[in-house]
Amino acid sequence: MSKGSKFLISFFIPLILTLLFVFSAISWAENDDITAEEIIEHIRYLASDQLQGRKAGTEGCEKAAEYIAFHFKKAGLIPLGGDGTYFQNFSFTSGVKLGDSNSMTVDIGERKLDLQVGKDFLPISFSSDGELRGGLVFAGYGISSKQLNYDDYAGIDVKDKIVLVLRYTPEGNNRKSPFYKYASLRYKAINAGEKGAKGIIFTTPLSQKEEEGLGGIRFDGSFTDSGVHAIILKREIAQEVLKTAGKDMKTLEQKLGDKKPSSFIIPETEAQIHTELIREKSSTANVVGYIEGSDQSLKDQVIIIGAHYDHIGLGDGVSRGDDKTDKNKVHNGADDNASGIAGLIELAEYFSNQRASLKRSLLFIAFSAEELGLLGSSYYVKHPKAPLVNTVAMINMDMIGRLRDDKLTVFGSGSSPEWKPLLESFNSNLGLAVQTKDSGFATSDQTVFYANDIPVLHFFTGVHEDYHAPDDDWQKINSEGEKKILLLISDLIGKLNETSTKIALSKAKEEERAPSQFNVYVGTIPDYSEEAEGVTLMGVKEGSPADKAGLKGRDTIIEFGGKSINNIYDYVYALGEAEAEVPTEIVILREGKRIKLNIIPGSRKDKIN
Ligand SMILES: [Zn+2]
Repeated sequence: MSKGSKFLISFFIPLILTLLFVFSAISWAENDDITAEEIIEHIRYLASDQLQGRKAGTEGCEKAAEYIAFHFKKAGLIPLGGDGTYFQNFSFTSGVKLGDSNSMTVDIGERKLDLQVGKDFLPISFSSDGELRGGLVFAGYGISSKQLNYDDYAGIDVKDKIVLVLRYTPEGNNRKSPFYKYASLRYKAINAGEKGAKGIIFTTPLSQKEEEGLGGIRFDGSFTDSGVHAIILKREIAQEVLKTAGKDMKTLEQKLGDKKPSSFIIPETEAQIHTELIREKSSTANVVGYIEGSDQSLKDQVIIIGAHYDHIGLGDGVSRGDDKTDKNKVHNGADDNASGIAGLIELAEYFSNQRASLKRSLLFIAFSAEELGLLGSSYYVKHPKAPLVNTVAMINMDMIGRLRDDKLTVFGSGSSPEWKPLLESFNSNLGLAVQTKDSGFATSDQTVFYANDIPVLHFFTGVHEDYHAPDDDWQKINSEGEKKILLLISDLIGKLNETSTKIALSKAKEEERAPSQFNVYVGTIPDYSEEAEGVTLMGVKEGSPADKAGLKGRDTIIEFGGKSINNIYDYVYALGEAEAEVPTEIVILREGKRIKLNIIPGSRKDKIN
């Protein structure tokens, strides 16, 4: 050890530590007012590399939860998670993988085919586990539709059998076909189970060039057991099995294409299947804190103020960062959604200081696992801390850190007739360019509350090129802008709190539909603040499927895969239905001209696995 370093240790380090302590003591002495300094401080910590992108179920996500609980406690919020803590724990299936014992043999007369998992066959993520033995029945496409007067199960008994079915439909993989809604593997598995079959084997028809599905466990948005054994079988082997009945796949496909169901028992053939899928469980928690109102007749009513705190970790297949090297980079999620959590903490401090004047109660919830499909908010509405009928409104903050040109989007403004006048009056002295969107359904946590008939609002400063990419960093946050938004929200909550009657619910005019998860990656960046019919793009990711298809910024998408696109919800829905690697027609308006393009969506099937 050199003299110099000893000096450093004995003198400088204690000095630096003292200074650090003094500075941190200053910065931790929180202000009850909403300040830009505190906003950025919360975001800096939550979006630091130390938290590793806060993926639900990871240590980084837990650290974030503890940070929020620490600040809730400091603000004097009552812990309402469970067991006297702020944490409302819940578990979720975070993935599925193959166990050690997956095997399959097919006896054809005297012959025995010994099949290899991963090469010849593969269980599907929703398959039941265990041993199954049974005779085989070919059941066409596995579709029963009264509406289309088509039934692959007509006149055939499949009780306790294993059905062999083709993927897709008699009209191929055509999205415009009325058969298309019966194409999903899960529908076919459920239908087979309803007919009494114990198992279902899928194979790819010859009409499809690409034989996919043996590359990895297929994930269809849910890991729940469908009640039947479900596997994908290599086409070559399926053809061999059909041959024993004197049939060939091509002829069968032609008949089925003419809407003539051609099901039959495959003689002298029996399959023995053993599947073992290991469903991996993780746990996480919503962070819940409470301020009780002081009006005896109104304090049973609550206003929920929420924001999700989880993000996408290291990207793990959902990153929108295009560069291959983006994989395994920390996706810090400063705007999405450390910004919302900073808002939540600031509002908790602000209202805690005014608790004496609060009539109704306020419930502050930091949701987890939003990025995995609104899991935390969905868990909350099933296990609410105040009856949902007494929940007056839900205010959601998701991505409020990138205010540009003072443009603020507010979703859900149609969920109460009172929202727009309230927003207008409180914004009058802030001067934000507020764009309202009526629908209460969108891809964030307010959706599940709106689905439970609660008026909702979601504050949002718009998508940007760093959305779900590693560059969503704290340095790019507009903390003064966020402060303005929080002033607007706090005024609004103050108003909701003091009126004696509850804010009224209205259902926005729209077709109600569940939020669908994206199955595919296309690389478009929609401009949510655009009012035009269709979905106008801010831009496209370089090298993405959208880029390759020739899409450009300012294009307006009006049709996708045969579905007309009137708004962002239509688009999300269309993307939810799209399939990876399947060429899909897209119709756009460019400078008033209607142009047809072809896009080949990329795969996001690794999303959870
Ligand atoms: Zn978000």
